[in-house]
Amino acid sequence: MAPRAFVCSVLREELARTDGITVEHGISAVSLLVGTERLRGRPHIQGVLTDTVQAVLADLVVDATGRGSEMVKWLSDVGAPRPLEEHQQAGFRFYTRHFSSPESTTDPGTWSLHHFDGVSAAVASTRRGHRSMTLCINDDDIELYALGQLSMRNRVAARYASWLPRLGEPVLPGVWVTSRLESCYRRFVRGGQPVATGTVSVGDAWGAVNPLLGLGPSMGLLHAVLLRDAVRQGVPDEVAMRLDRLTESSLTPLLHGITAWEERLQVRAGRGRRAPSRAMEAPEVPAGPGPTTAGLAHALLTRSVRLAAEADPSARPGPCYADLAELISVPRHRT
Ligand SMILES: Cc1cc2nc3c(=O)[nH]c(=O)nc-3n(C[C@H](O)[C@H](O)[C@H](O)COP(=O)(O)OP(=O)(O)OC[C@H]3O[C@@H](n4cnc5c(N)ncnc54)[C@H](O)[C@@H]3O)c2cc1C
Repeated sequence: MAPRAFVCSVLREELARTDGITVEHGISAVSLLVGTERLRGRPHIQGVLTDTVQAVLADLVVDATGRGSEMVKWLSDVGAPRPLEEHQQAGFRFYTRHFSSPESTTDPGTWSLHHFDGVSAAVASTRRGHRSMTLCINDDDIELYALGQLSMRNRVAARYASWLPRLGEPVLPGVWVTSRLESCYRRFVRGGQPVATGTVSVGDAWGAVNPLLGLGPSMGLLHAVLLRDAVRQGVPDEVAMRLDRLTESSLTPLLHGITAWEERLQVRAGRGRRAPSRAMEAPEVPAGPGPTTAGLAHALLTRSVRLAAEADPSARPGPCYADLAELISVPRHRT
């Protein structure tokens, strides 16, 4: 786990010293370009159109545009069958404040996550002496929306202070609210065939979990390695099918395991809308001789299953949910 800013800076450094990569900033892809069909009834994607009205052609278009990916819409615009798309029932809502770090540190960046009843808190530090603290609630937990008010958020954060790393002085005013962050999963193979050839989606554009768990970058990197393997295995037109097979056998069980665990936590806390869709189990992935991608994904899931089994939500520190709701309820004036 690492703060997002740290992961981005490492990747930027790596890109800068890798030959053969051109980075164009400030240009967005806006739609897909279609070439000659390779598979009956499935469009072949041969590039993208940008918002600067440039056509960018490619042997393989890799959608890595994050959890807000518009690929499902773009594919439907070019007549592809609809991919499978699942969204978690209740998303998340973040309330973040930024601080100067009280300790000067040479650590590359630290990240700590703490679960309380009804609220999770993440504290991230970067080596530039910056620290952020995020309180995360379920998006449908309207009772706690008052956390968006600075005084309320400060009052609540103070109740958790003894369990969290020390925060410095605020460096930015106000509370940053990020709403409707949903876990999602997309599958681009339907009925044994890709919905389109010439394109794949990876990272959060394929599947995203609660960002506070800090798993997104690791899962994205594992997915990039699976894509490398799928590309290396031969015929370019079959990359989408190969990536789907690799993804379904290693990453999908991990993603579904995490979302099922989160749904169970919500249901257990009495705030889920219905029973979780899947039970969390370690998938049957054969252990390889070395640290294979499938092996790493399996190890990550096995560890989460064990931690989830051991976790005792009744032993959570801090105020219980009722006290929390009471703490932030706006006083009613008598008329
Ligand atoms: C608010 C927030 C905070 C987070 N904090 C953390 C954290 O501290 N630690 C952590 O481990 N994880 C964190 N995550 C999760 C983590 O950032 C993601 O899981 C991870 O970045 C996913 O990587 P990705 O490359 O798939 O997508 P992203 O990192 O989202 O990258 C997508 C890229 O595509 C670009 N893009 C989007 N649309 C287009 C388009 N049409 N054309 C061209 N480019 C486009 C975007 O500008 C972006 O650069 C956070 C997520 C969110 C939303």
